[in-house]
Amino acid sequence: MQLISSIRKTRQFIATKRRKDKTIGFVPTMGYLHEGHLSLMRQAKRDCDVCVISIFVNPAQFSPNEDLKKYPRNINRDLALAKSVGVDAVFYPSSKAIYPEGYLTYVNVEKFTEVLCGESRPGHFRGVTIIVTKLFNIVQPDIAYFGQKDAQQAIVIKKMVQDLDMPVKIKIMPIIRESDGLAMSSRNTYLNPKERTDALVLYQSLIRAKKMIKEGERSFKKIVSAMRQMITTKKTVDIDYISCVDLDDLEPVSRIQGRVLIALAVFIGKTRLIDNIIVNPIRRKFSSEVNN
Ligand code: AMP
Repeated sequence: MQLISSIRKTRQFIATKRRKDKTIGFVPTMGYLHEGHLSLMRQAKRDCDVCVISIFVNPAQFSPNEDLKKYPRNINRDLALAKSVGVDAVFYPSSKAIYPEGYLTYVNVEKFTEVLCGESRPGHFRGVTIIVTKLFNIVQPDIAYFGQKDAQQAIVIKKMVQDLDMPVKIKIMPIIRESDGLAMSSRNTYLNPKERTDALVLYQSLIRAKKMIKEGERSFKKIVSAMRQMITTKKTVDIDYISCVDLDDLEPVSRIQGRVLIALAVFIGKTRLIDNIIVNPIRRKFSSEVNN
């Protein structure tokens, strides 16, 4: 496995592979890897000849009051994990390499970035779209892998790729959870034991929503009220938002009739966690994945 910090050397690595007609699968990450990340890498290995990942805690997607400085990092652990699933190259750039002094260019996906996390984290998706654009330009992958864990991010990236005619296929992979249901996240390491227990309410409230829909409830107002009731029993948890949106255009939905994304963000102590499910009351078997 190669560890590459420079953009030029990454391009050289890719060019060598391209000359041999190899296909490139790419997994962008912010590091502190867990099974969620590794599931994307394993899929890239299954689909493509070469798997490249990036590890970069992207300052552009954090606002000044967020956790950029204390975001968990452990490059040696990450390299060992990446190697264990057969990653071929890790692109590990410095902030200076990505955003040299005088950097000015961004990409704006309208509308899709103005709801859900876009509302509570202004500027976040502007940072996401520019880093992904830059990484795509550097790595030029055939397929890039994103997790449903960050469903809005994946949908925004898909839209950007479509609108800008970027020659890359986006694959969205299911959420990997701990055995008790908590969605894996690098930020889970911030939680103290009490918060970790309370964090289970995220998934439990989503399961409750799914059950209500299965039993025939179609009013999101009623569903959100049941979810709120469950969540507010946990004293460490503050709701940021609970939303139900159309999976294709992220438009808010009040009556659940087709495939929808139910997404929530909460603060547990100081830690902001997100989770979601996809439900489709029309299909007999409930879908829980973003279909590609
Ligand atoms: P991050 O390092 O948090 O920026 O995540 C990098 C990629 O891994 C993103 O596409 C995430 O959606 C994905 N990811 C993070 N956590 C999970 C998870 N629990 N299951 C599946 N994918 C995940």
